This record gives sequence, structure tokens and C-alpha cells, in this order.
Amino acid sequence: MPRGEQRHLIAATWTSLKWPHRAPADQLLVRCYVGGVGREDLLQLEDEVLSATVKAELVALCNINVEPRYTEVNRWWKAMPQYTIGHLDRLTQLDAAVSRYPGLVLTGAAYRGVGIPDCIRDGAVAAERVVRDLLGTAPSHRERVATH
Ligand SMILES: Cc1cc2nc3c(=O)[nH]c(=O)nc-3n(C[C@H](O)[C@H](O)[C@H](O)COP(=O)(O)OP(=O)(O)OC[C@H]3O[C@@H](n4cnc5c(N)ncnc54)[C@H](O)[C@@H]3O)c2cc1C
Repeated sequence: MPRGEQRHLIAATWTSLKWPHRAPADQLLVRCYVGGVGREDLLQLEDEVLSATVKAELVALCNINVEPRYTEVNRWWKAMPQYTIGHLDRLTQLDAAVSRYPGLVLTGAAYRGVGIPDCIRDGAVAAERVVRDLLGTAPSHRERVATH
């Protein structure tokens, strides 16, 4: 959701469309996100206030005007790494420092992408690198691509 919209909601996932097993077939499960960088104060609000705000915004945006059968509020403080300017330069320095220790690699959301597919891809490359370091074999195609 663009900041210009001036809403509390920053995104919503139609979870039961993405993963049908997460809700009964005749019901809709929506995961709504509030807060984010620069709006952390919203996480201080009471559960009831957050739920009411999200419900009101879903009415305004999507005309979903029914009382939910089930509501759950979870707070994820500082859950998402934020890449700032200079991130790639810092990564290069980190990689150079870590490469002095064969078998040691850095992987996860803090480095080369926060999405689950990014993390899986980077994890696979990291695992290959560890195996290669331990066995002394040549870099795989995937590793070579990942470092260029
Ligand atoms: C609320 C939320 C919703 C998201 N939704 C999506 C989405 O819909 N799609 C998407 O692609 N991405 C989504 N993301 C982003 C994505 O889920 C994360 O960026 C990704 O899962 C991070 O993977 P990771 O392996 O780096 O870290 P994690 O998945 O956090 O794994 C780290 C693991 O290390 C363990 N650990 C931590 N400390 C220690 C320790 N000292 N010793 C041993 N183990 C330890 C933890 O228990 C955890 O199991 C979402 C993130 C959040 C917070």
C-alpha cells in the first residue's frame, strides 16, 4: 500500500487463496500487515484497536463488511531486514572476510533478499559452498552465478 494512501494497512495476503487448506472452503482468511519501517509505533496499539482499524480499512478498500469469525494479532518486532544504501558494498566486504575461513558462510534474509524464494536459493548456494570447502571441489554453476 503506497504511503500516500495514508492508511494503517501496508499489505494484505488473501491467505486462503494462496494456501486453500488454511481455511474452510466457504471462508476467506486474510492476513493484514500494519506498521513497517517508520510506523513501528502502531504496534503499541491494543489488539482490539488494531483489529478494528484493519476491519474498517478492509471495508473502505474492498467492501468486505462482515464480522470475522476468527481474529488473531501477532506482533513481529524488527522482523524484516532493511537494506540501506551501501548494502552491496558491505556484503562484498563481509564475503571477503568470511572467505578466509573455509566452511563458514553467511546466509539468510539479512544478505541477498528477504523473500522465502531468495532465502531458499541463497541457502542452497551456501550449502553447496560448505560442501565444496569441505571436499575441496570446484564451484558449482549455481555458486558461480550467485557470486556474479
Ligand atoms: C510476518 C512476516 C510475513 C512474511 N511473509 C512472507 C511471504 O508471504 N512471502 C515471502 O516470500 N516472505 C515472507 N516473509 C519474509 C520471509 O519469511 C523471511 O525473510 C524468511 O523466512 C527469513 O528466512 P531466514 O532463514 O533468514 O530466517 P528465519 O526463517 O527467521 O530462520 C532463522 C532460524 O534460526 C533460528 N535461530 C535463531 N537464532 C538461533 C540461535 N541462536 N541458535 C539456533 N537457531 C537460531 C530461528 O529459530 C529460526 O528457525 C515474511 C516475514 C515476516 C516477518
